[in-house]
Amino acid sequence: MTHIDDTIAAISTPVGQGGIGIVRMSGPDAASIADSIVRSRSRVSPSASPSHRMIYGQVIDPADGRVVDEALITLMKTPNTYTREDVVEISCHGGMVSVRSILEIVIRQGARLADPGEFTKRAYLNGRLNLDQAEAVLDIINAKTSESMRIAAEQLRGDLTRKLSEVRVRLIETSAYVEAYLDFPEDEIEHAEKKTVQKQLAEIISDIKRLSGTFDEARFFRDGLSIAIVGRPNVGKSSLLNTLLQKDRAIVTALPGTTRDLIEDYLNINGLPVRITDTAGIRNSEEVIEQEGIRRSIQAIGHADYVIALFDGSEPLRQEDLDLLRIIRGRHAIAVISKADLPQAITLDPVVSDGIPHLHLSTVTGQGVAELKNSIFTSNLGDWKEERDGVVVTNVRHKAALDRAAESLEKAAALLSRGEPLELFSIEMRNALDRIGEITGAITTDDILERIFSSFCIGK
Ligand code: GDP
Repeated sequence: MTHIDDTIAAISTPVGQGGIGIVRMSGPDAASIADSIVRSRSRVSPSASPSHRMIYGQVIDPADGRVVDEALITLMKTPNTYTREDVVEISCHGGMVSVRSILEIVIRQGARLADPGEFTKRAYLNGRLNLDQAEAVLDIINAKTSESMRIAAEQLRGDLTRKLSEVRVRLIETSAYVEAYLDFPEDEIEHAEKKTVQKQLAEIISDIKRLSGTFDEARFFRDGLSIAIVGRPNVGKSSLLNTLLQKDRAIVTALPGTTRDLIEDYLNINGLPVRITDTAGIRNSEEVIEQEGIRRSIQAIGHADYVIALFDGSEPLRQEDLDLLRIIRGRHAIAVISKADLPQAITLDPVVSDGIPHLHLSTVTGQGVAELKNSIFTSNLGDWKEERDGVVVTNVRHKAALDRAAESLEKAAALLSRGEPLELFSIEMRNALDRIGEITGAITTDDILERIFSSFCIGK
């Protein structure tokens, strides 16, 4: 059940010590709760102060009259707020005790502790954001590179919403041709009209598929491209990893408490967030390979979007190298011939004959490092230049809905061309519209909302 008639409160700044900490409230009682705990120097209560204006005051615990902290209090009056409700932000000194005490007090005064993402959920429920825009807020919080951020910001701006409403209008127009006949089942749809409908449907289907197709590349900007670095012991895996990390560690993202409770490293390769999987395994590769051998590599390769397979250029290929070549055959991979600064003893025939792209690299001289980075980018984002100008889809939920919409439309087209009853055509058209509506949140269930907003942090 969704309540939106009560007042929620949360600490909106990160947990820990900082210059300031912000307790945020949203709901009908936000102003009166603020009045009950704030004593301002100018004797103006928060509710009497102009909207969006900060006032300076002391936060008092009404239970004993004690001064908890000094703070700047801002009341933002509905509807020009993040949630479209009255919002109060109390900026206090950024210590754990201060923000926690203030949160406890506002809760005692009648606010309820907000669920994760509940402020944004209210922004959606109150019509300020569409669902895809609300999801973009989360993407902005989690953005790993400035390119990821740019894409999320476009979605927040409503680019995807606009594109989808355009598709929606075209679908409704196309349906209208057929709807007219539904009341007169004895009439056959005219040939010319049928042709028009079929043509329009084909165009809409191809548009939806193009949009859905952007996901294959655009998703990397949201979730990161995962790369496995594999090879037998001593080929230079850790050295390569360190080279890449030193040069490109633009942003190190910590995502504690999210899905897997671990801290992941992202490299920034031309704006593409790249996650090196199995980092621990690489760093202890000698041990790991000896213990578990090829099984570990297969596992790492299986989970990766892209594989960097290392072969020591200063030595002839060994059986383990040939095994590895066999494993990566047909996979999205590049063979890196390491130690290019040393005299080369490797024979490249098996690599070349497998059709695996390869390059020579030295972590000592830096030869091949830029080329490797370019290969990582271009082999995973071949069409990116074209796509970056249009609307793209980065969220798997959106892609799934688009694919199901396209499926329904294909069924509709088939029904029409087979001359089946027009009611059936109509049902498929409605299904497609509903799938599009699920993306923007025009149609939704508590289930979907729960899933989306529970991945937010509390206070957003
Ligand atoms: P790993 O076991 O695959 O992780 O390999 P390491 O990165 O630990 O490297 C094994 C050895 O090869 C170390 O002594 C490195 O210094 C050396 N090495 C790695 N890359 C290069 C390179 O590009 N040139 C030279 N000359 N030596 C390298």
